[in-house]
Amino acid sequence: MPAVAPELPAEGAIRGAGLRATDSRRAVYDALRGMPHATADLVFAAVVESVPGTSLQSIYNALGDFTRAGLVRRIEPAGHPGMYELRVDDNHHHLVCAICGAVEDVDCAVGAAPCLTPSETRGFVVDEAEVVYWGRCATCVAAEASLSPALHTPIIRNPVHTPQKGSAHDRV
Ligand SMILES: [Zn+2]
Ligand SMILES: [Zn+2]
Repeated sequence: MPAVAPELPAEGAIRGAGLRATDSRRAVYDALRGMPHATADLVFAAVVESVPGTSLQSIYNALGDFTRAGLVRRIEPAGHPGMYELRVDDNHHHLVCAICGAVEDVDCAVGAAPCLTPSETRGFVVDEAEVVYWGRCATCVAAEASLSPALHTPIIRNPVHTPQKGSAHDRV
């Protein structure tokens, strides 16, 4: 086998994973290089510009092939569509904004995979740990802070009617 001198990173990576470097696979790979944690829809929107006639199904096929070949990692935080990224060589985790859905990478909790030790392995050999840190991203926190504090004060319409044990006869 001749030494491969890939003309493009996509070409070499795809061939290196044992796959044929078709136009649409190359375009999918390049799209992910610019958009970590992209959904299939986002990848499709990017690819269809450079490879007209691409179908969403072919994007799913390419992403599935990449994932199985270990070229791409798929994450699927609860309530969100699957997202794909090229950062596969570690056990990094994700920060997910519960408000806008922004996703950021965060390194292993203690530096090396599996990075978290369960209190009970029940005989399993643990290879990796998948952690999602849910919260609000900096943009959403800033947006909240810029709102008037009055809007955040819970409105208690009529505290007298708050159900309380033993007060059923109050102000009926
Ligand atoms: Zn957010
Ligand atoms: Zn990631």
